[in-house]
Amino acid sequence: MSWFKREEHQIVPTPDHEVRTEGLWSKCPSCHKVIWKADLEANLQVCPSCGHHFKIDARKRIELLLDPGYELVDLDLKSTDPLSFTDLKRYKERLAQAQKKTGLNDAIINAVGTIEGQPLILSVMEYAFIGGSMGAVVGETIARAVDRSLETKTPLVIVSASGGARMMEGIASLMQLAKVSAGLAKLDDAKIPYISLMTDPTTGGVTASFAMLGDLNIAEPGALIGFAGPRVIEQTIRQKLPEGFQRSEFLLEHGFLDAIVPRKELKSYLAKSFAWMLGQSAPSA
Ligand SMILES: [Zn+2]
Repeated sequence: MSWFKREEHQIVPTPDHEVRTEGLWSKCPSCHKVIWKADLEANLQVCPSCGHHFKIDARKRIELLLDPGYELVDLDLKSTDPLSFTDLKRYKERLAQAQKKTGLNDAIINAVGTIEGQPLILSVMEYAFIGGSMGAVVGETIARAVDRSLETKTPLVIVSASGGARMMEGIASLMQLAKVSAGLAKLDDAKIPYISLMTDPTTGGVTASFAMLGDLNIAEPGALIGFAGPRVIEQTIRQKLPEGFQRSEFLLEHGFLDAIVPRKELKSYLAKSFAWMLGQSAPSA
């Protein structure tokens, strides 16, 4: 059977042989170039033209950072609805939707594995789950990663991607900030290294607590990092904010970050940093 037919001297593909191309391309929000999704995937979701770092999910992040053979842990916790929160949409419904969309119980995954052979505890926030907001389950899961790190004397990395505290859990959400920060203080006393990796976006209570408490606080390029959003700050101080305010580069320049590390270099950067912190190697330039 021919896959085309002649129509007024033109060759027109028959509908069953049309190649559907939508969904195969992405547009870079920074340089506006259209990128083939397979190229983007091969480049770790970084725009090949301008280096814009697209968001990646928690599972992909773990796969990217840890050596093969890692294990996902602490997966059993589930949020309840402590305040019977009913504003706009019922919280229970939002939780159910987010669980269906991400296949996770909440906005966090803990993993145990190695990074270039060095044992590591990893806790990664999932932005696609209600904006990576931190409620009791996220806080408790991170606290468990901290405890595990303390018990096994293994370095810790927390990868933040969060809009901040989860309003629908009220004070239970805010209490997590103190709980995780207290755990990190114990880690500090035990001289076990912790590196905080901030990705786009890291805001609110997460920035105000564990994301800025690393022995090294590092970020991916171009990530939005801050406490309140720029609009709220402008309205409060009645001043226009400078260009690039709250982006990684601005924060590095003003001393709030130790380094900006492109996604491709993250794994070796973290492995080298831990080797140096644990006295296994001299610092490289
Ligand atoms: Zn681009």
